[in-house]
Amino acid sequence: MLVTRIAPTPSGHLHVGNAVNALLTAWLARSSPGGRLLLRVDDFDTGRAREAYLADVFDTLAWLGITPDDGPTDPADFHARWSMARHAAAFRATAQRLWAEHPEVVFTCRCSRRDLVAGGCAAGCRALGLPLQPGGTVLRLHVPDGLVVRTAPGPARAATSLPVPAGDHVLWRRDDLPAYQLGSVLADEALGVTAIVRGVDLLDSSALQLHLAALLPARAFARVDLRHHALLTDPSGAKLSKSAGAQAHPLERTDALRRRVEGWAEQLGAPLGITPPPTTP
Ligand SMILES: [Zn+2]
Repeated sequence: MLVTRIAPTPSGHLHVGNAVNALLTAWLARSSPGGRLLLRVDDFDTGRAREAYLADVFDTLAWLGITPDDGPTDPADFHARWSMARHAAAFRATAQRLWAEHPEVVFTCRCSRRDLVAGGCAAGCRALGLPLQPGGTVLRLHVPDGLVVRTAPGPARAATSLPVPAGDHVLWRRDDLPAYQLGSVLADEALGVTAIVRGVDLLDSSALQLHLAALLPARAFARVDLRHHALLTDPSGAKLSKSAGAQAHPLERTDALRRRVEGWAEQLGAPLGITPPPTTP
């Protein structure tokens, strides 16, 4: 049974690219027998989360006609039952297990981002055996040059391989929370996600997450059916989602824009085998 999710981060208003992605994800769930659609709001980035952005998630999904099968139903329900904070202790335990089981590639580091050289710790932290200490150290995953992961073969395309970005990537942050890649993989594993639709701008994330998943106890994410769609571009060829001010205001939720979003979704979904379910007008 297919389980997929819409996973917005409430650190900005959703843009048309997010809307198209949400619709494609919903279509994939609705056109799979017994398929389930989950909403997972990723609020681990507490510094940038805003109530207005959280409300925007629910308003935008309602406008698109998307009703997830599970997950928060409104901002109050999100705060009461679904904040990622409820996973922090379990995810911390998994990060520590990862560190204990893979000391050759997982290590504590006291360097800040600007201390890194070519994305790697140049201060020799790997040899120091520092404790993992909130406010003092981060946990990093070392990825050597030239590493490649194979994606799980999905129904829409043959198995393929992705280069994993080299460097010393943060797994656990200095503020005692999971970094995006680890938090995302563990949250998807906790929900039993089996398929993910995302843009080709996240190919590097997918590669890193697949590599990371293979080191984790469950390894469930390593079998996820990942489908990457092309990005929307404006007439000049620039990525629409990154246009200036694209996330400064909520989308204008008109019927006309929704029809355009549906048209874009049909165009970007076709190469991935994702089409509107029969019930969609
Ligand atoms: Zn370091």
